Amino acid sequence: MKSFKFSAVNNPAEAITLINKNTDAAFLGGGTNLLDLMKEHVALPNEIIDIGNLSLKEIKATASGISLGALAKNTATANHPLIRKNFPMLSKAILAGASAQIRNMATNGGNLLQRTRCSYFYDIATPCNKRNPGSGCAALEGFNRMHAIFGWTRECVAVYPSDMSIALSALNANVKVLSSERERIIPFQDFHILPGAHPEKDNSLQHGELITAIELPKNDFAEHSAYIKIRDRNSYAFALVSVAAGLTLNGNTIQAASIAMGGVAHKPWRALNAEAYLKDKAATAANFAKAAEAEMALAQPLAHNKFKIEMGKKALINALETAFKGNI
Ligand code: SF4
Repeated sequence: MKSFKFSAVNNPAEAITLINKNTDAAFLGGGTNLLDLMKEHVALPNEIIDIGNLSLKEIKATASGISLGALAKNTATANHPLIRKNFPMLSKAILAGASAQIRNMATNGGNLLQRTRCSYFYDIATPCNKRNPGSGCAALEGFNRMHAIFGWTRECVAVYPSDMSIALSALNANVKVLSSERERIIPFQDFHILPGAHPEKDNSLQHGELITAIELPKNDFAEHSAYIKIRDRNSYAFALVSVAAGLTLNGNTIQAASIAMGGVAHKPWRALNAEAYLKDKAATAANFAKAAEAEMALAQPLAHNKFKIEMGKKALINALETAFKGNI
């Protein structure tokens, strides 16, 4: 591992002042992804700023919903009574991710910032535009079974790995960010970005910005929500396909659907075509199937992941049926 300077800070202003002095510095939260990346020589910060002591761990009700502290642990968030009651989809998504040990260490802010698990990204002997811009994409013509079917470019076909973020996308969360100049709110749909020509960038956060909280607006679909994850083994595996779905119902009529997919794109993939199809339709098996068809018709599979199209349809239908039946 490359040597680095280590500092610990006690308030957000101190953290932001320090990181602004060094473009090669990185914040350390739970460290569950950053330390792996450093050990593999994929991330090479020359300075680590430990933000673990900052008072950003609170989970609390607000006038508009619930605020999750950026440094609250994933386990504490998933098991918090306010989250279990009002956002069960989020509890399920968090508990579907990683292992109990990792969830005990991982922070909410860090979960959003975790990097792709594309195996070529972690192998510094192979070309990878995300790790080394301009070097090429080994996955494009390589083994790409786990990779994207939506929104990819020839520069990068990786998928984003977080389960928590798929639920946050369907929940229309906002990310609260602090810098030396201002506080800003980033709508969740704009936080992560598609690869375009610059896959080295995963999200719209700027160097010098610190995530302080994730805001969850109130919704009226807690009782009719679901998170479905399909993976190679039942624990400690990333999604082949996942779906977070919430249905706002008036009897059997769907007033609105909120659906996001994981394991299919470089960011949480909002299933806008399925949502548009379901609006004001009856909640029937036939309409769920048509909505799934409408979404997956746009998929562009790679050589080894055509199976994700059928899997995506079935996962969408399963999530919609589960949400309709209700979880209370
Ligand atoms: Fe790198 Fe993206 Fe290609 Fe994977 S898919 S090798 S992360 S550029």
